[in-house]
Amino acid sequence: MRKKIVAGNWKMNNNLTETRTLLSELKTKLGTTPQAKVIVAPTFTNLQSAIEELSSSEIIVAAQNMHQAKNGAYTGEISANMLKSIGIETVILGHSERRAYFGETDELLAEKVNAALEHQMTIIFCFGEELKDRKNSNHFAVVAGQLTKGLFHIKDADWDNIVLAYEPVWAIGTGETASPEQAQEMHEFIRETIADTYGQAIADKVSILYGGSVKPGNAEEIFAKPDVDGGLIGGASLDAESFTTITNAI
Ligand code: PEP
Repeated sequence: MRKKIVAGNWKMNNNLTETRTLLSELKTKLGTTPQAKVIVAPTFTNLQSAIEELSSSEIIVAAQNMHQAKNGAYTGEISANMLKSIGIETVILGHSERRAYFGETDELLAEKVNAALEHQMTIIFCFGEELKDRKNSNHFAVVAGQLTKGLFHIKDADWDNIVLAYEPVWAIGTGETASPEQAQEMHEFIRETIADTYGQAIADKVSILYGGSVKPGNAEEIFAKPDVDGGLIGGASLDAESFTTITNAI
């Protein structure tokens, strides 16, 4: 059985007080036995308080990004070692906003993947095509390329630390969601692509999340698809009620 996961990417939202309030609401609403493995990714400055706030909870705290180097003259950056030292074991890499606004390439992401794996971190690896790729029917090739260049250098055993998040860029923060059929079609393709390189057993084991305007009203039909193992949630993860409803839709 693959792990069912619902992860909230809070992006650059919530100061310290707001972070504590949202986490406290989430703990109450989700209860002690959430339907899925739940992950939240607050901003860097609030990671430590989130760890403290959630110390008696099953909810996992993730970072939204990290630098690939061990340490050094990289002003403003955060290393895997720094994250680990405050108890962060999970990191989101390759989010489309990092790719689009901060120039993160597949090659750079391959380095970040290596740095995270060296520190035995779990990686939520994001990828997905832009609207122009889908319009040109190039979306499968784009996704295969992102996976091959950013991730397919890892060893078989490393897959235990990988969660995939397929996020079509045209559906992120736009209110436009991939249909459950479009999501299933791509997730199935992703699993086949992994199977071609790493074998069916590994492909069957990896959780593939869908991300892109998942809301309480559409989560259930998307999560019902056989190759969709949960979601990476942006906007709707900032509201405890919505995020809980989405988690329970698993
Ligand atoms: C995201 O940024 O990962 C995301 C899926 O955002 P939203 O849910 O707001 O589309």
